[in-house]
Amino acid sequence: MQGNRSRNTKPELEVRRAAHALGLRYGVGQRPIPERRRTADLVFRRARVAVFIDGCFWHGCTVHASLPRQHAEYWAPKLARNRERDTETDDLLRAAGWLPLRFWAHEEPTLVAATIAVVVRSRQPVARAR
Ligand SMILES: [Zn+2]
Repeated sequence: MQGNRSRNTKPELEVRRAAHALGLRYGVGQRPIPERRRTADLVFRRARVAVFIDGCFWHGCTVHASLPRQHAEYWAPKLARNRERDTETDDLLRAAGWLPLRFWAHEEPTLVAATIAVVVRSRQPVARAR
């Protein structure tokens, strides 16, 4: 199951654009761990940072996510599973030496990108002198 992580959402594109403007280069929609079907929105292989821009509804942002009144019995377990899967994904990544970074779709893209830049650069291996 792909999960409910839709690709190329507007917040995701804005973060990508802002990150690119800061000089960051990254993979888009890749699996940090190839054998695991978990796709990150921005992937920094050298720094081993996987960035997720989580949609407020699907991932249960406490500011915006409200359970639809219609069919609540359908949505509640489904959204709870998404959150469990997010936690599991983070655990898998950490176990493999990756750092998962999650942001909400409602966060300011330039601030998100600036945070990513600081983290990625702090984890970038230092170039070896030859
Ligand atoms: Zn939100």
